Amino acid sequence: MPSESYEIVPSFINGEWLSIKKDRCTNVYNPAKGEIISKTPMCGNKELNKAVEAAEKAFVSWSSLPSNNRAQILFNFRSLIKENLEEIAKIISTENGKTLAEAKGDIQRGFEVVEFACGISQLSKGESLAEVAPNIDATTIREPLGICAGISPFNFPAMVPMWMFPLAIACGNTFILKPSEKVPLTAVKLVKLFEKAGLPKGVLNLIHGGKEIVDGLCTHPKISAVSFVGSSIVGHHVYSLASRNGKRVQAGGAAKNALLVMRDAEPDSTLRAIMSSSFGCAGQRCMAGSLLVGVGDVKESLKEKVSGAIDKLVVGDPIKNEKTEMGPVIDGNSQERISKIIEKIEKNGASLINDGRKLIDNEGYFIGPTLFDNVNSDMTVFSEEIFGPVLSILNPKNLTEAIQWLNKLNYGNGATIFTTSGASAKEFRASIKCGMVGINVGVPAPMAMFPFSGWNESFYGDLHMQGSEGVMFYTRQKVILSRWDHSYKDKQGW
Ligand code: NAD
Repeated sequence: MPSESYEIVPSFINGEWLSIKKDRCTNVYNPAKGEIISKTPMCGNKELNKAVEAAEKAFVSWSSLPSNNRAQILFNFRSLIKENLEEIAKIISTENGKTLAEAKGDIQRGFEVVEFACGISQLSKGESLAEVAPNIDATTIREPLGICAGISPFNFPAMVPMWMFPLAIACGNTFILKPSEKVPLTAVKLVKLFEKAGLPKGVLNLIHGGKEIVDGLCTHPKISAVSFVGSSIVGHHVYSLASRNGKRVQAGGAAKNALLVMRDAEPDSTLRAIMSSSFGCAGQRCMAGSLLVGVGDVKESLKEKVSGAIDKLVVGDPIKNEKTEMGPVIDGNSQERISKIIEKIEKNGASLINDGRKLIDNEGYFIGPTLFDNVNSDMTVFSEEIFGPVLSILNPKNLTEAIQWLNKLNYGNGATIFTTSGASAKEFRASIKCGMVGINVGVPAPMAMFPFSGWNESFYGDLHMQGSEGVMFYTRQKVILSRWDHSYKDKQGW
């Protein structure tokens, strides 16, 4: 167990840690055991107003601090994350269920955003041009927005909050974070480290809760921008509500990602990539491969290989057994939901090759890796996000047909092609309608200097998280035109 444990998950408002008692709380589980480890209070407008007041006050001095001084605190935060890596990974693994290696990957991807944000002085430079008209110079500067808010999902307790608050704060904003009520303990640890790094009070506030807080963040007149990551249904709600209320919004949603295998793909690395993409984090990734597209006659041997690898996958409690390759799903509701989906896919006519339901009676919320064959693009499973370890095989006759099928999907996060042919890779890259494309990369999730570029129903807004779009999202431009006429130098004034 991590060293700190809480009966009620603490909130952080105006530099104070508060154990807020509420009639309404949700349980935080260790999903590998099915045990309750803490309770998340469902905070409301009273706490939100206090956080907004603190963030508004802190904005005055934080936004006027030189960017290099702000970056200094981010450098400290970076070092503290490194020093506490093992501890944070244990917290993630305990409350989310992913393996320790996956938890470290979760931290690493967030850590990279912190490193990116350390370069804020370079990243937020404006442009200038002398003599745009006689004696007139033009300059742009980027200024922070004010108070920004972040709402995050359960599946990446470290990475997703770190897509948001480090960059927003580096840009000179103050921030209110509302993490998933299912995994709030990682956020508590990260905020504690940022506090220790020297962040002044009120710059980062942490409040817990559900719909009431989310709707409050989307409507509060003093909040300027909202970053959201979660399901598309809630993402769309957040996007509509917050933008109706005059806020800048970026909202990442659900996904259905495909892994397309050509006959000329390199077999060993392709198999490893398929297994990790589809069953890593128990399939609970917005970039998880969940459609396995075996093009033409590659399909039969692909099915055999994947099915054999599934039989060997070590599923279990990641803390108890270090050799665990796949942990549980997040909670009992999720386990039941996925189990019903497996039943439905079978009823719809697909062939069940590996059935993960055999682990349901074990302690904890486990669903084993599951494989279906004979899925086609007219079945519901083709287009709905399962968010669990379920992989469906399709068999188009050629690359053109495969792309036609995949372009029927409403979501648009990721799609990968496995091939050694440059021509096939190029055709795929040019024709596929989604925002993140892999060529022999199972999870084409970009690093911090590139945008996390979802399309269609996988993203609502204009400016994505991470990279230069992230800096643009958390700042607004001012254009300054100055006239300096040579004759001014001799003037005495009025
Ligand atoms: P979720 O939508 O249930 O919850 C996300 C956040 O919204 C949480 O903080 C939650 O408290 C809040 N919320 C939940 N219901 C709400 C409601 N009715 N009104 C207002 N707020 C509400 O998502 P989840 O189950 O935590 O996460 C899984 C989903 O996130 C998957 O669909 C996955 O694809 C998606 N995801 C997307 C990305 C991306 O970048 N596109 C990344 C990670 C996860």
